[in-house]
Formats: sequence, C-alpha cells, structure tokens
Amino acid sequence: MNPLASKNRASILNRLDNEYFDLVIIGGGITGAGIALDASSRGMKVALVEMRDFASGTSSKSTKLVHGGLRYLKQLEVALVREVGLERAIVHRLAPHLVAAEKMLLPLIEGGTYGKLSTSFGLMVYDFLADVHEEDKRKMLSKEETLEHEPILRKEGLKGGGIYAEYRTDDARLTIETIKTAMKYEALSMNYVKAEDFIYENDTIIGVKCRDLLNDTTFEINASYVVSAAGPWVDKLRKKDKSLEGKHLFLSKGSHIVVPHERLPIQQAVYFDIPDGRMMFAIPRNRVTYLGTTDTPYEGDINDVIASKEDGQYILDGTNQMFPDANLTLEDVESSWAGLRPLIHEEGKSASEMSRKDEIFESETGLISIAGGKLTGYRKMAERIVDLVSKKFEKEYEKEFGDCFTDKIPLGGGLFGSEAEVFEYQKVVLKDIQKMDLEDSFATYLVRNYGRQVDGILAFAKKSNEPAEIAMAKAELNHCLEKELVFTALDFFNRRTGRLYFNIITIQPVLEAILKEMQTVFNWDETRVKKERDAVLISINKCSNLLG
Ligand code: FAD
Repeated sequence: MNPLASKNRASILNRLDNEYFDLVIIGGGITGAGIALDASSRGMKVALVEMRDFASGTSSKSTKLVHGGLRYLKQLEVALVREVGLERAIVHRLAPHLVAAEKMLLPLIEGGTYGKLSTSFGLMVYDFLADVHEEDKRKMLSKEETLEHEPILRKEGLKGGGIYAEYRTDDARLTIETIKTAMKYEALSMNYVKAEDFIYENDTIIGVKCRDLLNDTTFEINASYVVSAAGPWVDKLRKKDKSLEGKHLFLSKGSHIVVPHERLPIQQAVYFDIPDGRMMFAIPRNRVTYLGTTDTPYEGDINDVIASKEDGQYILDGTNQMFPDANLTLEDVESSWAGLRPLIHEEGKSASEMSRKDEIFESETGLISIAGGKLTGYRKMAERIVDLVSKKFEKEYEKEFGDCFTDKIPLGGGLFGSEAEVFEYQKVVLKDIQKMDLEDSFATYLVRNYGRQVDGILAFAKKSNEPAEIAMAKAELNHCLEKELVFTALDFFNRRTGRLYFNIITIQPVLEAILKEMQTVFNWDETRVKKERDAVLISINKCSNLLG
C-alpha cells in the first residue's frame, strides 16, 4: 500500500487505529515533519497526525528564508545564530532545488540600524559562526556599487551596503518533502486528523484520541510516547493535558504582501531599514516580489490569520520609503499571507525583542511539547526531541536507537549533487516547457517545486491533448494525488503548488478542470464541489483584496 496516495486514506487510518507506535507526533508543520523523519530514520515506529493540511499553520506563512538571522546577532543570540547559520548549508545540501542560494543586499543608510563598521564586523562574525565558504563571504560595497546592485534603491542618505549569503525556500514544500521522506522510513502520516484528547493509564499518556475531520469519525492511536509539535496550538494541548503552567506561548503575527515583479523590479533579495527602526525583506521570486514582515502581538482567532489592510499599508510605506520611485499602493497587492510566530513569552519584551529559541516542555503525564524556534533550525530541534525520547526508551524499555543522521538524508525530489546540477536539469526541463508553449519561468517553478519528480509530471502532461496550461495543472494534481496526500483543492493551490501566493492569476483558468478531476477521483457530489470552489474563491479574495 502506497502511504502517500490520497486514495489509500482509509487503509492508512485503519493502520493508525490498529497498530502500536513508538511515537505519535501531533502537528504536521516543519517541526513535526522533522521529528517524524529523525525518529523513523533511527528505527522508531512513528505516526504523525495533522488537523488541517500539512504545513497549513506557520510553516506555510514564513518569510521562506533558510537564514541565520542577522538581527539575532544584534540581540547577542550567538548560539542561536551559530546553530541556524550552520544548518543553512546542510539543508541546502539535502534539497538544493528547494533551498536555493540567494545573495542578500543590506543597504546602509544615514541613521539606519547598522553603521558601516558595525555591519562589516557583524557580517564577518555571521560568516564565521556559520562557517561560510570563502567565495560566499560578505562583501562591503560603496554607495556606487550598492546602486549598481540595486539601481532602484533610495539614493538620498545611502552610505553603501553589504552583500552576504542566505538561502530561499518554500516552507510548505520543505515540510511536505520532509514528511514524504519520513514515510520512506515507514512513518505513517495523515492530514485532516485532529488530536482531540489524550488517553491516560495511571496518569500517564499512552495515546491520542483522534477525529478524522473528513469523515467525522473517531479512533485512537496507542504509543509509548506522545510529542506535541503543534506550533501556535501547543498551549491548547498543554491545557487539555492540564499541564499548562510556568512558561507559555506569546503569539506574534507576521504578514507578507506580494506585488508583480515589474512593480518592484529588484535584482536580488534586499534586507532594509524602515522608519520605525525595524527591518524588512523584499524578495524576488519568478514573476513576483514579496515583502514583509510585520511583528505584532496577536489575540484573534488562531485558525484564521490574514494580512489586514493596515498590515499591507505598513509594509508598503516601509518599501516606498526605501524604493521611492516604486510608489506602490494597496492596488498593486496581488496576494498576501499572515502567520503566527509561537514565541516563548518573556516579561517586559516586545514581540520583535523576544527570543526565537525553541523550548521543550515535559509534563508529569509524559506529554512532550516543543515550540518556538525557526524553520531553519528544524533538523536540530528534531534531533533534541528524538534524543530525549531515545533516552526515555533506554531507561524505561531498555530499547536502544542510534544517533541522528538526518544531515545525510536527501529530501524527496532533492536528488541533486549540487545547485549546478539543478540548473542543468532546469535547462532540460525548459526544452519541454518551450515545446508546450508555456512561459519559460514555468520550468524554474516546476524544478524548484518538485525537483527530479518533474520527470513524472512532464511524462503525464505529454500524454494529454488538452491545452498546455490545463494539461500541466492536471499532471501536477496527479502527482500530488499519488505522492502527496492531497484532499482539497486548496491543498493543491496553496501548500503543494504555491500558486495562491506566487501565481494567483493562474488559478482561475484551471480551477474548473482541477475540481472536475478531484470530483472524479474522490467521487464528490455537486455540493462538495461547490464547497471546494467557494473555499478557493474566498481564499483568493482574502489574499488579494486588502482594500478592506
Ligand atoms: P506550525 O507550522 O504552525 O505547525 C503546527 C501544526 O500543528 C499546524 O499545522 C496545526 O494545524 C497542527 N495542529 C495543532 N493542533 C493540532 C491537533 N490538536 N491535532 C493535530 N494537529 C494539530 N523561520 C525561518 O527559519 N525563516 C524565516 O524566514 C521565517 N520567517 C517567519 C516569518 C513569519 C511571519 C513567521 C510567523 C515565522 C517565521 N519563521 C521563519 C519561523 C517559522 O516559520 C516557524 O518557526 C515554523 O514554521 C514553526 O513550525 P511548527 O511546525 O512548529 O508550527
């Protein structure tokens, strides 16, 4: 039985219900995914449940950088910067198509956060901590050189700049490929399964009570240990376990907006000052540029977090100030997203001052929860959790598991030796894309999204007589139905293809074809098809319409 095929849902749920697991993980964001891969590759029998779609929480709403976090250096978080700095190169090596090298330009302005000398020193320390290769080390630039890199920057008050190495990814795809790789090590994962409660024996957790949200049925998963990697929902589960005491989460909202690249035609990523003393990113990505982020305390509904008109205006004002000829307005916003940082609360500190370090909580009932941290550090967070669980196995069951080796496991479609191989493969794919009369950028999108899995997608598309756009969308859907546990149209348009954020205008032309295909595969009635269509259209409206 293929545990990645959507059609096998009932069999997978049956196995979750009837088999006994070493470890159950609650939460299919990057943290849960990383733990599933680490634990299963060390030989543990693992189950993972996600109440919505994989990566639908914070792990599809980040700035999508695999980065060391230059600003944490300023807050003297040296250990954090070293750990995530070193992780960047590892994650890049594991999936070079998905985690791409991206030079970051840091313009230095009069009265800005960073002075010339302190930037030069800071970036040198940053490179040193992250063990950056000689050729990628930071370069300091004069005003003229900075403007050569980015001619549309504000000239007034510009003192020069620094350019340094970072990486760009797609957080949702990174999460999904990690889950898929864990499944190669026999982990079982399922989305739309909510952990509703815990099962106790002598006041110790021995499993999880689950609800299949697609069929509204319940079942139980029994296991030796339970880890909650529920991100912003971690405290809700600690409360359910009656163990919410001491440190707790503080949720900070971060929004991003997307504009057509021609409206902000930057040549590389830029990390720039905004007037209130914070800093923001502008990142080019195929036919768009995305901008963000905000950092504000959040007390609303954690299941429905959206970028508001005020968030959008704040980001636009900051951007227009650094790129004065752009004159961006809310009408330029093509898409947007907002997510919650599950930070560990620190008395007297503002959202942006609070540490991004992760924290593990262990309750007397045996519930292990992990929150905080960064997308970039997911592998090390997973290692810490699985080391902890391994020790418990040794002590309580005299059972031994080996050491972490996820730094040697390539992710999903990432079977490339280097980024140069990714570019070579992209050229091959481009030839097919041109034959199909699709835009060249589609080749980049496909390879960056699916890696070598594009071979199968193209082979499927080539068999079709339909218009190329439809044929390609259906070929992608077929891949996702066979290998990525897709169950709703939004799973496809958001977490699997990223179209909702980065190519929103391409959804409507293929929407009906995708709905029809899913209707056939899942045997949906017309009411369900309408529900799916409405969900996509409402999401398009929420993301693109910040005008109020
Ligand atoms: P989540 O992704 O939220 O996953 C938790 C999952 O648990 C959710 O999918 C949820 O549905 C599920 N869940 C909850 N309760 C239950 C239940 N009862 N049953 C089943 N499932 C449940 N980090 C970086 O390294 N680089 C960046 O550029 C970056 N930018 C960021 C920008 C913003 C605006 C934000 C908000 C964060 C950013 N981060 C970044 C941080 C990073 O995104 C997060 O650290 C990471 O995504 C958290 O992942 P997670 O798996 O812990 O949480």
